[in-house]
Amino acid sequence: MFDLKSIVRPTVLQLQPYSSARDEFEGGAEVYLDANENPYSNGLNRYPDPRQRALKGKISGLWSVPIESIFLGNGSDEAIDLLVRAFCEPGQDEILVCPPTYGMYQVTAAINNVKLKKVPLDAGFNIDEEKVIANLENPRLKLIFLCSPNNPTGNLMDAGVVGRILKKFKGMVVVDEAYVDFSPEGSLIGLLESNPNPNPNLVVLRTFSKAWGMAGLRLGAALGSTELIGIMNRIKPPYNVSELTQQKAMELLENKEEMLAKVDEMNREREILREVLLRIPGVDRVFSSSANFLLVAFKNAGFVFQSLREQGIVVRDRRKEVPNCLRISIGTPLENRRLLNQLEQLLVPNVSIH
Ligand SMILES: *Cc1c(COP(=O)(O)O)cnc(C)c1O
Repeated sequence: MFDLKSIVRPTVLQLQPYSSARDEFEGGAEVYLDANENPYSNGLNRYPDPRQRALKGKISGLWSVPIESIFLGNGSDEAIDLLVRAFCEPGQDEILVCPPTYGMYQVTAAINNVKLKKVPLDAGFNIDEEKVIANLENPRLKLIFLCSPNNPTGNLMDAGVVGRILKKFKGMVVVDEAYVDFSPEGSLIGLLESNPNPNPNLVVLRTFSKAWGMAGLRLGAALGSTELIGIMNRIKPPYNVSELTQQKAMELLENKEEMLAKVDEMNREREILREVLLRIPGVDRVFSSSANFLLVAFKNAGFVFQSLREQGIVVRDRRKEVPNCLRISIGTPLENRRLLNQLEQLLVPNVSIH
């Protein structure tokens, strides 16, 4: 039997959370003299709702997840940090990651003095199920971070493998779905179905920074059991999502159709880019992707990276994570054409440069 309380840090379980003025008084009043705010209105002089109820209501409808299963944070990076701090005793506990993957898991572990166990993805960038399972009996292992679609490789993780890890592990499995809006069929959100929650040790991370186009706003979500979300809410800074973020997100989330149309366009562009790249000499491999970027292996990635940069085009150098590889985000059609033109000029011998 999975028991959340047995793996949460005792400090966190015993914590008496800070109770803000907005927590202690709910409902409407005519005169607010409880929070030492400046009374003169400029639209932002009041503290935001610490529980983000209106915004969560909207998100709940969008993803068909109950409000009590939603944590909202200052980007999903905040959720990653809170998960590590909720479960991992510094200097003792461990997290497991499957590189090459998103770098923040490792950095967050390091900041919190939490050990990192690496079980690399296999040659096809899939989870090495046997090697992950070999670690599950370690009582110090509290969290497993999986990323699907994975950054920087772009592929979805196998749902069957994740399901088996969930069943065998007595700690938490975090599935980071930052890019899942580009391949919604790959989401594991369905495994969270409530009453009773069949996978109480699953946390799904989502962000509004990618498909939704709100990277500048800083809004991310963690979805999980009511009990888990309760723990995360206890340890979050009270006003972690600003009033501007809450208001603007409410407004932008109205544009779901527009988001879906842009996602379709980016997905189409990704496949065009992939096909053209594959025909360019000097391109060794273009990995298939379920996200809004492509991982590309070049014969001379350093030269390509530097030359593109000199032409004002910046891509992500991932050679330290995946040999010879650059990660290229999908831009507008115009930006993608410009990239391809530059690459052809750099790598196709008989294209003259004007
Ligand atoms: C971009 C990215 C995030 C970032 O999330 P924020 O909500 O912007 O903090 C999280 N996870 C992965 C894998 C990402 O690539």
